[in-house]
This record gives sequence, structure tokens and C-alpha cells, in this order.
Amino acid sequence: MVVGRVWRISGPLVIAENMSGSMIYEIVYIGSEALVGEVIGIQGDKAFIQVYEDTSGLSVGEPVEGSGRLLSAELGPGLLGKVFDGLQRPLSELEVLIGPFVRRGVKIPSLPRDVKWFFRKEKALEVGAKVGPNDVLGYVDETPIVTHKIMVPPNVSGYLKEIVNDGDYRVNDVIARVEKGGEVFDISMRQQWPIRKARPYVKRLEPTELLVTGTRVLDALFPIVMGGKAAVPGGFGSGKTVLLQTLTKWSRTQVNIYVGCGERGNEMADALHGFKKLVDPTSGRPLYEKAIFIANTSNMPVAARETSVFLGTTLGEYFRDMGYDVLLVADSTSRWAEAMREISARMEEMPGEEGFPAYLGSRLAQFYERSGRVECLGVPNRYGSLTIVGAVSPPGADFSEPVTQNTLRYIGTLISLDVSLANRRHFPSVSWLLSYSLYVDNVSTWWSKYVIPWSELRREFLRLLQKEAELMEIVRLVGPDALPEQDKLILEVSRMIREDFLQQSAYHPIDSYSPPEKTLMMMDIIIKFYRKAYDALLQGMSLNTIKGLPIRSKIARMKEVDPREFNKFYINAINEIDESLSKFVKVVS
Ligand code: ADP
Ligand code: MG
Repeated sequence: MVVGRVWRISGPLVIAENMSGSMIYEIVYIGSEALVGEVIGIQGDKAFIQVYEDTSGLSVGEPVEGSGRLLSAELGPGLLGKVFDGLQRPLSELEVLIGPFVRRGVKIPSLPRDVKWFFRKEKALEVGAKVGPNDVLGYVDETPIVTHKIMVPPNVSGYLKEIVNDGDYRVNDVIARVEKGGEVFDISMRQQWPIRKARPYVKRLEPTELLVTGTRVLDALFPIVMGGKAAVPGGFGSGKTVLLQTLTKWSRTQVNIYVGCGERGNEMADALHGFKKLVDPTSGRPLYEKAIFIANTSNMPVAARETSVFLGTTLGEYFRDMGYDVLLVADSTSRWAEAMREISARMEEMPGEEGFPAYLGSRLAQFYERSGRVECLGVPNRYGSLTIVGAVSPPGADFSEPVTQNTLRYIGTLISLDVSLANRRHFPSVSWLLSYSLYVDNVSTWWSKYVIPWSELRREFLRLLQKEAELMEIVRLVGPDALPEQDKLILEVSRMIREDFLQQSAYHPIDSYSPPEKTLMMMDIIIKFYRKAYDALLQGMSLNTIKGLPIRSKIARMKEVDPREFNKFYINAINEIDESLSKFVKVVS
């Protein structure tokens, strides 16, 4: 193994000499405390190392030892419900808040070595059978809601020589032996995978299923698809963190991964605390039993922001390979980009736009492009998906800056947050004029399982909101009186859409999660109201009378109706709209 010496120290960047033979992205241990670092550049015998721990106290001349390994994630039972730092060291809730008292250089295993897990062997599997990458050997019920599939590592194939009986095993115990050409591989429940490398699959598939988030403005207007990628740019205080946390809580995925990257520790600690109290609507189990948290908060070393992002992605792909739908959110990718900028500057690389390195775009692509819906490798045949949602925090909410612009090249849903909406307490502050989704066609089949026509209602919602924006321009110039009654009705209905539908409190006990059925019925109620009111207006009913109808206040409160009672509410509301508006039409005609 290569052993060099520290030659220069520049914050999180260490340059070591005598390093010929080391490889790019190799993990090295630096100094007497064996700080963990990663080689990110090689020039002659010098290695540029980004160090994932505090380098104060390190001095020139201290040894730098190569490991021959790439920075890797540990995969196996013991991940769910846990909090890790960017190097996958387990963190306590307190450490998230005040920064790690993880002793520098101390290596705590990511997966506990002493815990025993009950392993159930895959029944279809027999000794002598041919096995290959990602074949399922057995199962561990890691939490009451997630079964961890124990798979053959991606680089192993051969004949199954031995497999243990059902029973309790630790992650390092050998549970199977595979033989190939006289060579025997011992397989345990723990495997490793280099975090910068995408895990293999059979093939990519077109994503088709809606990622049900329970957030109406997303599910109804700007859908994310399972296996898709989305970005949430927004200025300070616009609600990025709350939205990402809401997604992690309620998205109907089997495993959720939250990466807190460079943001404040107290926010992350709050989020963790909140999670402990929440239960999954489908299973009634605590939500954290299907979640993994990666915390690289603002008081932790900046270089580890990148590892926290790729670590999250790797864990996501691993659960995807089991055949699960996984969601990964990263808050915020801008903090990661800032870390890239800092390290690049210290390496004296030629800067690109606004000082960010020229490879900013390709690095972001490496992240977003690991999302997708795939046919997984291995037997039994299965499909899985990894959805990626990244927050972007453009300084001064200026979306023309490089991180936002580069991100836009790779994503399918843009959830654009608007500070002025947030200031008016319109939450989630998703701009209906600037956001878009390229997945509308993908998910329309998913929505078509309901009788109420989603695509048509969605189009009508967006048309009305667009029209409202145009009308508001006129109102600003000449006042509202100049508008014809039909246009005033549009303003009225758009306000209903904004206030009674789009606004959704992340903290309301009922409204924080709006199931798709309820969302759809709410849309239908508003559009039915609009159409009937439009007819009534033509027949001579005054706008004031329409505004004064009791159904209006019912619509204003519908978001607070329990989803279990919403069917009944819907039928009554539609009847009431018919009666109060059509009856009038009949009388006149
Ligand atoms: P950002 O991460 O963009 O800086 P936050 O997510 O921290 O902003 O949101 C700032 C504040 O806005 C929150 O503390 C909360 O009071 C409010 N907020 C944001 N989103 C919502 C929401 N969906 N429902 C209710 N309040 C919200
Ligand atoms: Mg935030």
C-alpha cells in the first residue's frame, strides 16, 4: 500500500507527496489520527486529497496511508431508522444537533456487528443451484414494515455450495458459500459498494407510476413519477426544507432516504424528532421504520457533503435492487455545490461560472442520473425504482445562477418555490406559473384508474390559473370593475383553487396528507362549481348571489374533511352545486 507524507494543508484539502501508485477516489488515512480522506486528483507523485474530517492539528510531514479501496457504503440489515454522517458513521440525535463528537479518525462500523437478525432462507433455492448477482438468498424482517432481502453481491456468481438454515445471524456471519472454478466465496449479510458507482440492473424502464406524495399541488398539477427526478429551487424561507420533509414523511414509497446536506443541525434534529411521532398511513407503524437519515449538517466538514449525497444514492439503489420503490431527497444540493467550489478553488483549478468548477454540471448529472425505474438484476424477477428530489438554494432567489441552471438540464419535474407566496403565507409556495412536469403523460394512465378525469381537470386548473394571471394584469391597470362578469367569476374560482386547494399546511393533522382520491374529488368539486356558476351567470344570476351561496364556505373547508368521509362529502357537495346553481337556470329558462 502507498505511504506518502503530508506536503501541504489547505482547509479540507491536503496535498500529499510520495503518493505515486495511488488511484483516483482511493480512500487514504492521514496523520497519526488516521483522518479519512479521498484522493481527488493526482499530479506526478502528489495526491490531492479531500479530507472528510477536521484537519486542524494536522501537520506537514505526517504519514498518509493508501487503502487500495474506494469509498464504499456498507449494505445490510441495520440501516433503517438510523442516522448516519457522510461517512456512514452512526450518529445520535444529539450529535446531529451539536455536531459530531465522533472522535476524529475513529472508525465505528456502519452496521452493528453484534446485533443478530433472523434470517429466513429463500425456499426456492437449493444447494447446487446456479446463483448470480443480486439473486435473493433470504429475508430479514428488519422492521415490521420493511423486509430486507439478502442478495448475492453484484460481483459474485457460481454454484451455491452451502446455505445456512433459518436462524439468528450477525451481519458478518457467513450465511452462504458460492463456488466458481474451484474458488469459494463466503457470503454474509453485509456487502460493500463504492458510493460513486451506480449499482447494476438489467434494464431501465419508462417510469409510469405516480409518486403519491399527498401534497396536492404536486400530485395534481406537477407530478413526480416513481423513478423520476425533481428539483425544488427556492429562496431562503420559501419552504424547501418543509416540502422535502413532507415528501419523506408521506410519499407512498417503501423506503425513504433523507439527506441533510450542509443545512442547519437544529432543523435536522427537529425533523428526526418529528419522525419519531408520525405513523405511516397505510401500515400504522412509525414512519422512521422505513426511513434512513444522512446528516451532514453545516457544522460538519464540507467535503463530506458530497459523500452524503452519493452515500444516500447508493443506499437508495440497494433497496431499489430488492424490488422496492425508494425516494431520496437531498437538502440542499447547493451546499454540496458550494463545497465543490471551495475544494476546486483550493486545488487552483480553472474556475467556471461564478467560481464553480467546470465539472459542476457533470457531477450533478452523476447524482440525478442514478434515479430511475429498473428491472432489477437477479432471481426472483422484480422491479424497483429510485426517485431523486433535490433542493436548490439559489442566493437571492436568483434562478439564473449556475447550480439551478445546471440542475434544470437533468430533471423531469421542476417545483419552483416562490418567496412572495411564502411571504403571503401561501404554503407550499409552489409557483403554478413557473413549475412544470415532463411526466404528465407518464402518469395519466395511473390516474385513469379513477372515474374522475384527472388530465382534463388538471388542464382546466392550469388554464384558470394562467387566465387569472392575465386578468390580474388588467385589474392592476384599470381596476376590477372593467372586467366582464365571466372574468370576475374566473378570478373568484382561481382564488378557490389557490386557497381551498393549493394551500396545504404541512402541520395540519388531517390536511398534511391528501390521498389522491380526495385530491381528485376536490378538483372535481371546484370545476363543477365553476361550470355551473358560469351557466348560471349566463342565465342572469348575479355574481354576488353566486359568491353568497352556502356551498362556497363548504368548499373552503373541504381540505379539513377526513379522507375517510370524503366520498360522502363529495356526493353532497356535487348535489348542492347542482341544486343551488342549476335550479336557478331552470327557473329562468
Ligand atoms: P427553506 O428551507 O426554503 O429556507 P423552510 O422549509 O425552512 O424554508 O420554511 C420556512 C418556514 O415556512 C417554515 O418554518 C414554516 O413556518 C413555513 N412553511 C413552509 N412550508 C410550509 C407548509 N407546507 N405548511 C406550513 N408552513 C410552511
Ligand atoms: Mg431549508
